[in-house]
Amino acid sequence: MDAARMQAVMFPGPGRPLAVVELPVPRPGPGEVLLTVSACGICGSDLAMTAGGAFGYPPGRLLGHEFGGRVVARGPGATRFAPGQRVACLPARFCGNCERCRAGRPLFCSAGGAVTGGMAEFAAVPESSLFALPDGVADEAAALAEPLACGRKALRTAAFAPGQDLTLVGAGSMALAVLFWARRLGAGRIRVITGSPTRRAAAEAFGADDFLEPGQPAPPDSLVVECTGAAGALEAALQWLAPGGALVSLGMGMASEPLVPAALAFREISLHFPVGYAVEDFAATVRALAAAPEVAAMVSECVPLAAVPAAFERLRRGQARSKVLVVPRGGHS
Ligand SMILES: [Zn+2]
Ligand SMILES: [Zn+2]
Repeated sequence: MDAARMQAVMFPGPGRPLAVVELPVPRPGPGEVLLTVSACGICGSDLAMTAGGAFGYPPGRLLGHEFGGRVVARGPGATRFAPGQRVACLPARFCGNCERCRAGRPLFCSAGGAVTGGMAEFAAVPESSLFALPDGVADEAAALAEPLACGRKALRTAAFAPGQDLTLVGAGSMALAVLFWARRLGAGRIRVITGSPTRRAAAEAFGADDFLEPGQPAPPDSLVVECTGAAGALEAALQWLAPGGALVSLGMGMASEPLVPAALAFREISLHFPVGYAVEDFAATVRALAAAPEVAAMVSECVPLAAVPAAFERLRRGQARSKVLVVPRGGHS
């Protein structure tokens, strides 16, 4: 394997198309394993953080944080997984012991950092960030654990309770992630605001009950999750929110939001901005994939590595129904 090379997707800097580069296959370091990547999702954050805005990736970064694969080699001291095992990757290094890790924030570990590079044929990752994929789950589904886990944390953050109704603004991947967990955690009625018939079909497969067009009036709910990130979406979401309710922002909008504090205070609205997941959210999500036929409806397209730069440009123009998966060893529509 020493001389082996691989293809990977690299961010060359804002304003330039992504590059598919050839690199040496990484060697797993201490406590790491080498994966052959089965699939890696393209995330809205990948689009935003390569667009030249305030929260960009540094030039040269290998992209891809929604991925899983099969263990092919182990670095020194790595013993938890055997070659051949299939895993999903929580894309962070984390110690598990610092104050932030103990508070359920592995993405903020004071000794850690992000793990990217899933849009590649191989990735070397810490074995402590890996979770065994249950038998019977399709290889590609490992890439869905990361976005789906965000839905569980979003509901926990808002102290969601079984039986509670909720409204989701948008029906893209983040909305599907909330639906995935709202159904499993015993939600009451779930309504979804979307103008897209194809996204609506995916939300139906994930168990949404009712659908509204954007701007359509409706009785308020105690929980609204904003999943589009569109400019002005948080303020707009308040129309569906009851006094004392919680508004969760999952859309990762990059524009300033015109919220009037008094308008929120007079209705005692709480705002939440969760990101990512606790380790427990991620582990529960990987386990839940064992009985989750609906996740097939989340994937709108699979593309090979060579097609990733073009797929990014398509996604920037909004031309995708839902999650696009990069499948390094193949890819089909
Ligand atoms: Zn993501
Ligand atoms: Zn830590």
